[in-house]
Amino acid sequence: MTKTPPQVKDITIIGAGPSGLFTAFQAGMYEASVCIIDSMPETGGQLTALYPEKYIFDAPGFTKITAKELAGNLFEQANQFCPEIKLNETVLSIRTLEAGAESNSVPEHANAAIFEVATDVGRYLSKTVIIAAGLGAFKPRSLDKPGIGRFEGKGIYYAVREKELFRGKDVVIAGGGDSALDWVLNLRDVAKSIAVIHRTDTFRAHPHTVKLVSEEAAHGRVQVFTSYEIKECTGGDSLEKVIISDSNGKEVLLKADALLLMLGFTSDLGPIEKWGLEIDDSRIRAGLNLETNRKGIFAVGDIANYPGKLKLILTGFSDGAQAVRSAIPYIRPGDKLRHVHSTSSKLFSR
Ligand code: FAD
Repeated sequence: MTKTPPQVKDITIIGAGPSGLFTAFQAGMYEASVCIIDSMPETGGQLTALYPEKYIFDAPGFTKITAKELAGNLFEQANQFCPEIKLNETVLSIRTLEAGAESNSVPEHANAAIFEVATDVGRYLSKTVIIAAGLGAFKPRSLDKPGIGRFEGKGIYYAVREKELFRGKDVVIAGGGDSALDWVLNLRDVAKSIAVIHRTDTFRAHPHTVKLVSEEAAHGRVQVFTSYEIKECTGGDSLEKVIISDSNGKEVLLKADALLLMLGFTSDLGPIEKWGLEIDDSRIRAGLNLETNRKGIFAVGDIANYPGKLKLILTGFSDGAQAVRSAIPYIRPGDKLRHVHSTSSKLFSR
């Protein structure tokens, strides 16, 4: 059987946070083909993972906007150009392939070098790479308790992909932030029962959400266990029970078809430090054109460091615009680079 050679993209963007998404939009403005890769199940980076319900007051053009909404808008803006988006994939390495190293898959072009971006799932070829990796790859936080590993995917989940999966089920949700409490409210119409467990007595979620959950609890529609921790998960082929205990060792056995662990995220710079890039203050050193010490590889947003760098959403936007412009000579060597304002671009008059 003939193996289909992987397609070579113009730009592969590592990270789908605000910087990565806006970089993808800018790449679209230059009609470059794009693949975006993120370790998270959804786009938005820190905005969706760490503070979705918080208002941002310094996003250009918005008096105030929630992080979740801004992330959604950035996705829509980038998606006008249909980038390929690979979620739940962590980039592990970026290897430079010389021209002809994969003669079936690497087309001739003047720059010749092609990058192979390898993830824990697949590998992607690209003429340039723009790293928009923020604080590093996000992963949902887990718990080191008996039964957790055994029932992952068999009753234990870290995100809700489809509400229908929880229809008619006894659901236990662990966590005290916005995600946990939002899902307590959002699953009410499908779940048979919902119990929420939090290890302290204070929820971190938006006060209005906490109030709504307390009202549900007062009406007996949701069980709330504060100052409780998960002790063990048990079952047969899939999860059946969650045992929780308080600081005095008092145990409660909860019937559970599903346990949602919504305990936040950890970020890991890990693999990035092995990519042969100059690291400066735990970030990637970049020049003013955002290129790193590896030709054809650029860094933008929080992960990029250069003199005077501000770690803000708006800096990531500016970095993205600059990095794409700097990448174009690698993609279309010899092309006269002419800046076109979006207001005059033929792309938006179609
Ligand atoms: P991130 O948002 O961190 O996104 C990086 C993405 O790359 C992540 O999704 C990650 O999973 C992915 N990734 C990393 N490594 C890999 C890998 N190896 N493989 C695959 N994927 C990978 N800024 C403001 O301007 N205004 C504010 O009001 C503001 N408020 C904030 C409030 C809080 C609580 C926090 C935590 C930050 C706030 N910030 C604010 C900062 C702002 O969120 C960041 O500057 C911004 O998110 C940086 O965007 P980014 O795209 O560069 O990185």
